[in-house]
Amino acid sequence: MPAKKSSAILSKSTFIRGLQCEKSLYLHKNRPFLRDRLSPEQLAKFSRGTNVGVYAQELFPGGVDAAPKTHFQMAASVKKTAEFIEAGETVIYEAAFEHAGVIIALDILVRDVAGWKAIEVKSSRSISETYLWDASLQYFVMKGSGIEISDFSIAYINTAFVRKGPINPAELFKIESVLPFVLERQEQVGQKIERLKEVVELKSSPPIPIGPQCHKPYPCDFIGHCWKNVPAGSVFDLKGLEEAQKFKYFESGIIKAEDIPKTELDEKTTARQVKSMAMGKAVVDSMELNGFLDQIKMPAAVFSWLDFIPAMPIFEGTKPYQSVPYSFALKGLEASENQAVHFTTPAFPEREMLEEIIDAVLGFETILVFGPQPDWDFLLKNAGAEQALQKKVELLLAGSLDLSHPFNNYSIAWPAMRQADSPEEILAGLNQPVLKPSGKIKTRLEAALAIEKLALGNLKEDHEKVLRDVEAFHSARVSNTVKLLELARKMADA
Ligand code: SF4
Repeated sequence: MPAKKSSAILSKSTFIRGLQCEKSLYLHKNRPFLRDRLSPEQLAKFSRGTNVGVYAQELFPGGVDAAPKTHFQMAASVKKTAEFIEAGETVIYEAAFEHAGVIIALDILVRDVAGWKAIEVKSSRSISETYLWDASLQYFVMKGSGIEISDFSIAYINTAFVRKGPINPAELFKIESVLPFVLERQEQVGQKIERLKEVVELKSSPPIPIGPQCHKPYPCDFIGHCWKNVPAGSVFDLKGLEEAQKFKYFESGIIKAEDIPKTELDEKTTARQVKSMAMGKAVVDSMELNGFLDQIKMPAAVFSWLDFIPAMPIFEGTKPYQSVPYSFALKGLEASENQAVHFTTPAFPEREMLEEIIDAVLGFETILVFGPQPDWDFLLKNAGAEQALQKKVELLLAGSLDLSHPFNNYSIAWPAMRQADSPEEILAGLNQPVLKPSGKIKTRLEAALAIEKLALGNLKEDHEKVLRDVEAFHSARVSNTVKLLELARKMADA
């Protein structure tokens, strides 16, 4: 017989959504069609390869799993959990409970001599305020279901952990009791649950204006709907202005950036952007820009790398969330269009590749990079580099110039500069043609997530095709970085 469907109105995620913004909860429950479409990057993030919870389960091995087959079968999960408890099980994974119209699942439930202990697992590096609310709700529901919890802990990633051999979960995680925080929020949780259930039942959307809650603690997925009346060229389009200040202007009726009193604008940053918005084109500080470009000594090359940042340390000697560069590209500014891009797979780091890159790079007077440097320290250590190679790297770093500088530091200001972090976004914002990668992978994050899955052995797609797509993306990235330099030169001459 199919399991009865849960009649719960709220879950952990909808409770947290409601805490962030009641309107968001209302829209989520009643007008889901108004939700923003997920970008390919967001979709890629959801299919991320690492399941930190599986490692955490090894902290309490031999448990039984109450996880539902699908997200819609939580009621079955609640029943299974009750049966496990009744049967005397002492370690239950994904234990589910329902109370007061709220259904929750806890990562690990353990019974010892002191009673039941709850452990919620997070792949983060610290305990946030949201996690404390999340834990408080779980405790409320478990207690209401009749289970006495003697302690509630959050297991999160220990950033000091360095991988040596197989991962030891006891070292990878920090486990911290949050019981005092949870207990002091119980009354508020009860009141909030009742309030949020009322919100869900409202006849129309609560009249909540846009505010800092639209981005914090999570980016809301109804921005397209709620922000549709904010015009282009608004105070929110300004880079370098505190968000609190933007809302202050907005609430006082100053919506357009050009309406901000001149005396309140910073000459070198916001004033330049406002001017560019008024003119509808880029504003250039020729002296600053030429000063930057004069530092380029020929022969010069654009040097680019791609990295991925796995939550779990995949390689020996790495820490959780350590940047692991996996692909390098180098293109001389005087080289032909089709110059091959250096590329390596994530069986990395390899000393030969490192030496090859450094030797190639050392032939140039200036190395142009975009954004921060890769983790050379890590590369060198893992490639077993000795002092002579170290020296070469120091020389390389001393000669490199960050091409993002004039674009990030307002030597060139343009109306859409706030949304531009990559060479492609800057070129598009400045109405320049952008070379599109020929494969499926279009962004650095998509490339990183694909490589992470490959390194973890979770990549379902054809490996060769994915590597070709990553390489195509990187080739396009290098070409676009070169275009960016050409554009900066043109603007400096104009
Ligand atoms: S966009 Fe902002 S105001 Fe609208 S639902 Fe989301 S958080 Fe609330």
